[in-house]
Amino acid sequence: MEVGIKLWSSNPVKYVDKSEFADFIEVLPRSERSLDKLARRKRKYTIHVPHELFGFSPIHNMRKSRKLLDQAVGAAKKLKAGLIIMHTGLVEEEPDEEFVRKAAKAVAKLAKTVSYGRLLIENSYPKAAFDIEKGKYYICYDYEHLRELLEITGAGFCLDFEHAAIAAHQLGIDYKRFVAGLMRLKPEYFQLSGVRLNTRVYSKGHHQSIFEGAIDPDFVKETVKKANKPVCLETPVDIEQRKKEVEFLKNGNG
Ligand SMILES: [Zn+2]
Repeated sequence: MEVGIKLWSSNPVKYVDKSEFADFIEVLPRSERSLDKLARRKRKYTIHVPHELFGFSPIHNMRKSRKLLDQAVGAAKKLKAGLIIMHTGLVEEEPDEEFVRKAAKAVAKLAKTVSYGRLLIENSYPKAAFDIEKGKYYICYDYEHLRELLEITGAGFCLDFEHAAIAAHQLGIDYKRFVAGLMRLKPEYFQLSGVRLNTRVYSKGHHQSIFEGAIDPDFVKETVKKANKPVCLETPVDIEQRKKEVEFLKNGNG
């Protein structure tokens, strides 16, 4: 099982140089110059499409979303990355079933423009969990909607454990049962971080260490080991802490 770490291409490049302990680096592309620096380092990369916080929302702004996706595909080519991970975007108002279908169609239309690498679509959660999201909503967080979207796009599935924890919490479903449902979509890649569900402060709740927060690390480890697909840590950019997380997932020592 490969375990990688997430970085933005704008993070200092020392984090790449000091991360031999990780099997790959997932990059959220920012400037061309920062990507050039990464390209000179012969590491294995995956790419994350710039998300909602950068304006990604196919249903509300196809042009902007297309631009962000194209930027990610360009980065994938430059870094010879085979996997491209994409969200489904935010929606402005609480969506009804008809709106969800329309929004998913917009995502599918966009997904079909990708002609390089393997596109993976990531699960989200129903509605804003943190202050920074300003009361927005999301689509494609449950088994049924994801299954349909994966079917019409032919894309693969990225299971984000943190998003699943927020979704299960908001829907009032047991977390392990909820994840078991999503596992039936045969994820090809995992995103992993700890999450605190009792705060609305983004920096305190979101993307915590896997040893902190609401998700049981042993349950996650067991699940990803069985699946044997790449796992990307979206935990704080802290080399020593991440080393411990990788070691735990691979060998079981915290
Ligand atoms: Zn993501």
